[in-house]
Amino acid sequence: MKRLTILGATGTIGVNTLDVVGRNPGRFEVFALTANSNDERLAEQCLEWRPRFAVMADAEGARRLRERLTGRCRETEVLDGVSGLELVSGAAEVDFVMAGIVGAAGLLPSLAAARAGKRVLLANKEALVMSGRLFMDAVRANGAELLPIDSEHNAVFQCMPPDCRGGLESAGIRRILLTASGGPFREASPEELARVTPEQACAHPNWVMGRKISVDSATMMNKGLEVIEACWLFDTTPEQVQVVVHPQSIVHSMVEYDDGSVLAQLGNPDMRTPIAHALGWPERMGSGVDSLDLAAIGDLSFEEADLERFPCLRLGFEAAAAGGAASAALNAANEVAVAAFLAGQIRFTDIAPILESSFEAQQGGEPQSLDEVLDIDAAARRHADAQVARLAA
Ligand code: NAD
Ligand code: MG
Repeated sequence: MKRLTILGATGTIGVNTLDVVGRNPGRFEVFALTANSNDERLAEQCLEWRPRFAVMADAEGARRLRERLTGRCRETEVLDGVSGLELVSGAAEVDFVMAGIVGAAGLLPSLAAARAGKRVLLANKEALVMSGRLFMDAVRANGAELLPIDSEHNAVFQCMPPDCRGGLESAGIRRILLTASGGPFREASPEELARVTPEQACAHPNWVMGRKISVDSATMMNKGLEVIEACWLFDTTPEQVQVVVHPQSIVHSMVEYDDGSVLAQLGNPDMRTPIAHALGWPERMGSGVDSLDLAAIGDLSFEEADLERFPCLRLGFEAAAAGGAASAALNAANEVAVAAFLAGQIRFTDIAPILESSFEAQQGGEPQSLDEVLDIDAAARRHADAQVARLAA
């Protein structure tokens, strides 16, 4: 029995994780579930899974959750705030932590899991984008196991040799090929892009995801963040990472070896595959995902990623080359811009210029401490907030 904490249990990743856990009875015990504000869904999950702890982001949310659970769920203690999240990530009883919180809010609890030497199932790519060096150092220093949940990185991991600790070159790997669906606006005109609504941006053609990552997929900032994520996870440089657009989202990513062999991981676009892979690794277990029907799909197509059309992807490559501070600033500005777009304050086409401006404003370099990362994050948010205010005026 592995004891599991699910950070962000009420989100898309969290719900899919519980689905996979439910299909594998006797293998996992749910130790803790956490949510931001959705006490209703977290209460339902607590009643079903009976975790030792449930954590809400703030005291008011925790009060609502306690009210819902009173007299119905004695075994669950309700906590709140970052201290509660860190407690359930680092607790001695925990074996696995699913890092499924979206955005910078996931950094401290994900890092707590790494520092406590857990198996970290990392969906929260923003944590690694913000603090790649510190995060990877914490993983190594504390013997944590970092397994990627992002479908592309999980695919790359599956296509790599079992032990790649000597680096890509010594494993005979020439480059990593990340696939990208291109999102819902791959063929939209500039005029159409300027009129895109939050609902259109959140309607991804292949994947069901939270709203923030859906907008990131539409701008292709998601792929930019994934380039940075790949550099940290696989200890490589952006020159060795290529993005190829693959609208069907069947090939989840590829690894090219020195002899010209390209290994790919394929499957239906369903996050339960990478989740089950990382939960079961090195064994395989059921995920509930349908068999791949290649004849029904018919064609798998590929095209070059257009960095002019998708400036956010270009910024991702530039930040990966510029280092940790640039990546942290880009991530923070993106969170501000996406939230403003979702709130109807700015247009879809305003996102990239805000990121460009924030990228140019940052100082570069490699943050040496968590405080430094948080300072860079705060400064980039202030800069992006000012841009939003100017555009919204
Ligand atoms: P989501 O919006 O569906 O869920 C986010 C979860 O985080 C929710 O449980 C929410 O309660 C929690 N949360 C949000 N803000 C919080 C805060 N301030 N404090 C505490 N908890 C907070 O998002 P998602 O689609 O599940 O994505 C989660 C993460 O996984 C993101 O980092 C995303 O990039 C990554 N990811 C998602 C997918 C996918 O298919 N959904 C694929 C790859 C990677
Ligand atoms: Mg992905």
